[in-house]
Amino acid sequence: MTMLENVAKEQKPLIGKSMEDLEAFAQSLGQELFRGRQLFDWIYRKNVYNFSEMSDLPHSFREKLFGIPLHPLRMVNDHVSNSKQTQKFLFELESGEFIESVLMKDGKRVTVCLSTQVGCAVDCDFCATGKMGFIQNLTAGEIVDQFLQLQNIIKDKITNVVFMGMGEPFLNYENTMSAANLLHHPKGVNMGAWRITISTAGIIKKIKQFADDGHPFKLAVSLNGSNEKQRLITMPITKAQSFSELLEASQYYTFKSRKRVTFEYVLLAGVNDHRTDAEELKQILAPMNCKLNLIPYNEINGQYRRPTDTSINKFISSLNNAPFPVTVRWSKGQDIDAGCGQLATISDNHL
Ligand code: SF4
Repeated sequence: MTMLENVAKEQKPLIGKSMEDLEAFAQSLGQELFRGRQLFDWIYRKNVYNFSEMSDLPHSFREKLFGIPLHPLRMVNDHVSNSKQTQKFLFELESGEFIESVLMKDGKRVTVCLSTQVGCAVDCDFCATGKMGFIQNLTAGEIVDQFLQLQNIIKDKITNVVFMGMGEPFLNYENTMSAANLLHHPKGVNMGAWRITISTAGIIKKIKQFADDGHPFKLAVSLNGSNEKQRLITMPITKAQSFSELLEASQYYTFKSRKRVTFEYVLLAGVNDHRTDAEELKQILAPMNCKLNLIPYNEINGQYRRPTDTSINKFISSLNNAPFPVTVRWSKGQDIDAGCGQLATISDNHL
């Protein structure tokens, strides 16, 4: 094996590296700093798959790059929902584990839902990912690569990103933020910060850190209950991170960031879809700069059921005069298990 081949073999994939990392990388190969900036442009803005396409890099530099991996993920397969509006993708990591990402189309809006972990330790009772337990954190590269590969194979431009796939983003805080910053970088993908949403099950310390760090991205918090006792039924995390502390931390975020927080509320039949729940929500969320997003449950063969459309509409009507905006996410990917809370990778099923 030649020395060049050895260098290539030891290199981690380039996707996930920041502008500064790529400058240092170029320098380590005897190039000037600006070569790293050119690489950044090719990888993130132009999203090319081959060093041979990087036409403004000198031939000698490209020769050194050949063999170095760009992508940390391998796309295994995809499934399109009956509605054609949702598509789910399965990726294999270098570790041999699998993750899923979901693409959702709604008019001109094209949203990708990215995973941040394999499995999840939070163990929400209604969630397929939670049933897997925690397996591993994704690197920033593995998170960003989901976006880049999806953008490469679809015709439309991805307009929005939600970190709401497998895993709890705030339990992989550094890598998630690095990935969000890469997607937001003006010289790269250049996605507006208001188009990037980080969704958490409610890791209080990290909500505060997110506010203190001054990240420009939007925050969504999964509430899923109208009070402590009820939230505990489906979200055991409430034992360690109380309902009132979660609301306080969310309010802290809104004050600090001067942004609205979105509360996600998965509607579960007979659990949290009563008129009294709607009334309680109106009361507790009234003082907050927030939006409430209702998500009718997507069933996973467990004990929970999706409320009927009549019950869902009744719940929405009870919130009619709420002093905050209320939206409903009618998921369009349940038939391929791509709805919220349905992502899980039992590899035998997918291969
Ligand atoms: S809903 Fe989110 S935080 Fe809860 S177990 Fe599933 S992936 Fe984890």
